[in-house]
Amino acid sequence: MQLTTKDVRMNLHAADKKEALAMLADILVEDGLTTQNYVHGLYDREAQTTTYLGQGIAIPHGTPQSRDDILATGVRLVHFPDGVVWGDEGELVYLAVVIAARSDEHLQILKQLTKILSQDIAQKINSVKTADELLAIINDKPQSLLLNQHLIQIDEQAKDADALFATAVTALKKTRAVNTLSLLPSQPLAVSDLVQCISFVGDDHQVAQSALSLAIAKHDITPRAVAVIVANEKLDARKLASVYDVLMGEEFGLALHQADIHAILQLLDIQETSWPSKDALILNEHGLHARPATILSALAKQAKGEIRVSVDGGDFVSAKSLSRLLSLGAVRGQTLTFIAEPNTEAQGYLEKLTQAVTDGLGEKVLPLSHQSEHAELSDADALVEMPADKHLERGEKIPATIASSGVAIGTTFVVREQQVDYPMIADDPQAEFERLIGAIERVQAELSSTIASANNADVAQIFMAHVALLDDEEMVFEAKAAIDAGSSAEAAWQACIDDAVEIQSKVTNPLLAQRAADLKDVGQKVLLALTGQDWQAEPKTPYVLVKEDLLPSDVARLDPSCVAGILTAVGGSSSHSAIVARALGIPALVGVGFGILDISQDTPILVNASEGWFVIEPSDAMILQGKQAQESLKQRQQLANQHALDSAITIDGHQVEVAVNLGSVHDAASAVASGADGVGLLRTELVFMTHDQVPDVQAQMRDYEQVFDAFDARPVVVRTLDVGGDKPLSYLPMPDEDNPFLGLRGIRLSLKQPKMLKDQLTALILASKGRDLRIMFPMVSKLEEWLMAKSILEEVKARYPHDRLQVGIMIEVPSAAIMANAFAGEVDFFSIGTNDLTQYVMAIDRGHPVLSQEADGLHPSVLMLIHQTIKAAHAHGKWVGVCGELAGDSKAIPILLGLGVDELSMSVSSIALAKQQVRELSLAECQVLAKHALNCRTANEVRALRLESDA
Ligand code: PEP
Ligand code: MG
Repeated sequence: MQLTTKDVRMNLHAADKKEALAMLADILVEDGLTTQNYVHGLYDREAQTTTYLGQGIAIPHGTPQSRDDILATGVRLVHFPDGVVWGDEGELVYLAVVIAARSDEHLQILKQLTKILSQDIAQKINSVKTADELLAIINDKPQSLLLNQHLIQIDEQAKDADALFATAVTALKKTRAVNTLSLLPSQPLAVSDLVQCISFVGDDHQVAQSALSLAIAKHDITPRAVAVIVANEKLDARKLASVYDVLMGEEFGLALHQADIHAILQLLDIQETSWPSKDALILNEHGLHARPATILSALAKQAKGEIRVSVDGGDFVSAKSLSRLLSLGAVRGQTLTFIAEPNTEAQGYLEKLTQAVTDGLGEKVLPLSHQSEHAELSDADALVEMPADKHLERGEKIPATIASSGVAIGTTFVVREQQVDYPMIADDPQAEFERLIGAIERVQAELSSTIASANNADVAQIFMAHVALLDDEEMVFEAKAAIDAGSSAEAAWQACIDDAVEIQSKVTNPLLAQRAADLKDVGQKVLLALTGQDWQAEPKTPYVLVKEDLLPSDVARLDPSCVAGILTAVGGSSSHSAIVARALGIPALVGVGFGILDISQDTPILVNASEGWFVIEPSDAMILQGKQAQESLKQRQQLANQHALDSAITIDGHQVEVAVNLGSVHDAASAVASGADGVGLLRTELVFMTHDQVPDVQAQMRDYEQVFDAFDARPVVVRTLDVGGDKPLSYLPMPDEDNPFLGLRGIRLSLKQPKMLKDQLTALILASKGRDLRIMFPMVSKLEEWLMAKSILEEVKARYPHDRLQVGIMIEVPSAAIMANAFAGEVDFFSIGTNDLTQYVMAIDRGHPVLSQEADGLHPSVLMLIHQTIKAAHAHGKWVGVCGELAGDSKAIPILLGLGVDELSMSVSSIALAKQQVRELSLAECQVLAKHALNCRTANEVRALRLESDA
């Protein structure tokens, strides 16, 4: 039975108990719960014994004989601010909880009432003003004692009780259980020789949550453990007593000696009041960012009862609050610990929430490759700095980060922070709160209609996250507290938003920190709704939008036919704004620096977001060039699309296969339509990852058949399973390695799982049905590996012959490139994996958040190995492909052609343009270029080279 304001009557006055009972009976009749006759039941019951409960509360109800007068079970809360003499000792009642109970549904409410009686709440009940306030008191159940594994520490270094005390207090502070450090401890209580217990008691401002923290020394010292208890008035005193009993017990001593945290938790969990907890690992690539956090908070909100969550043992926040979830800044590899309020439905949600996190909260997740992944990632993230403020020289090219490519020419429309004026204080809290709720609801309705009309899924998802941000009880609760303290709705709201933005922007993960922009955005909308102000109107002619940060809502309101381009002072290429700008196809540069906001309105500007620079007040010549670049980009794509299905033959008649890299068998048909001459790399580990367990031969055949059917007679190069390194397979046990990229990956792993390799080879041969199948083994570093893999294939072929089968290896380990001559006599072809080859040649982790951009496949060292590989292959009459990212890089294509590559394999979006580029090249010229490239000293020197005809 859930009480709402409809069940409350405020400000009633009665001269005595009899009159009060008559009024109560009238209310029950009015609400259809009883007949008029029930009043006699109330009188009779009171005559037997008083229903006075204590703390200014009475629970009048009828006798068993009066049950026939009850029409429906119900409870009403009636407030008598002047009090009514009720108890035998003349006690005053301020709150009458009148009950009409046919069965026992009301017992829950009575239980609730008996719990709050342990607190000193008479004063509060006496002075409440609103139904909401009254309900808040009633629903304020006594707090339990927070205790979970993060509050039990084994202190390896502890030499004495002081050290243990410090450890225990640190853990408590992390939970935010204590708001002030100025609490005075009660006398240390030596519970036993083993445990010293120190407790702090404060009010609920000082102690937000009663909690127990235990520090245990690793070595045998006296005392062995220190327990620190912080308690407020809401803590059930009986719980405290039972905790002391446990701490003194023999079993506890044993658990302490064995440092058995699980047993300790179980022992202390003697009453239902301990908060149960459950952990889940975050596997989402970008951590707990807005979209997964929205799903998580929505799920938590379904539970009645409090659910809190912390990351890696840090502060606990409400799992129902989206802004608090985002403020955790949780990244991939960190552990979320959920705790649930005992004896509530929330407890049952621990399993659901942790499962949802493990499943990726709506995103595809990959298992962690290594336990220390997160530590490495966050350390590296710390090195990623915001772009420094650049000097904005007029007429000069100024570099910036590309968010969405293209070229824009126009005049600036600079949007500066809009000043919103509002009073800071107000004197009618109720009215202010209603205004705030009204404004939030208006904004939510507006957002919902934007979502409904959005024709872009990215935009819709962002606004869904905004709706969820506004549906944040904690934020509204905070604003209400400020309003109750005398703030205007605007001031209270803005303060909450500022706090949330500040917390969010301090998060170390740059991707999550960028979500502060979303908070600012929704915050501003509500503020404008409160003050009735509108946004700055945009020009109606094409302009370049200049802003501190591009708020997602800006983008959605933007008319792409008017917004030629976008420049922002801050932001990264993965910010929401960038994602949406890309989706809308508006050229955009981000992270330009704050100086950009100082330029005047209507300043001419040229944005080249294909090359990553812009020019303020460009010369006429620059504008002309920009226009030409725009036009040629457009025409080029059109032309390429028109000829996507034509072959890629140079002007001097040399044909190159342009194939596709496939990660999903479902993309096969569209790749054919986009002009792929064949498949140059089918990454079968990605196909395996779509299964929950190792797919058997039949299941694999079904997958592979889709590719063979789509490509029919065209060649299909399939790479055998390449797991390990950055690509673990959840259902395949992997050793824990310090350097997984140098460990059991690719063919090394397959050779340890010969049955799996055999099955895969069988499935490929059977699925190809005699079509042009080319199998290659990944990560081959020495001849022995090739020989072993080949012999396994021979076994399969003996059973399932295939006449057209070619077998090759990937060249992605330097030793294989260096030994290409030895391999070339053995294989049918090579495919160069420049991603890994570059990583291993340059010793730069290809996934390194900061360094990876320096791992350029056009480095001369890599080109030399490619050159050597091709020479060896051609000398043996074998063909060579390139299937790393370099194959789709327009700068690299002429060089690779010049080096003699026979096939280029790339992502589907690059195919049409790459083919077009090949058709405009001359092989002879490319060969000259490649020679020059091999003589360069740096990757930049290679990138600066021009074809003779372009020079
Ligand atoms: C490569 O290493 O270049 C390659 C194509 O393989 P992957 O990127 O899948 O490791
Ligand atoms: Mg590779």
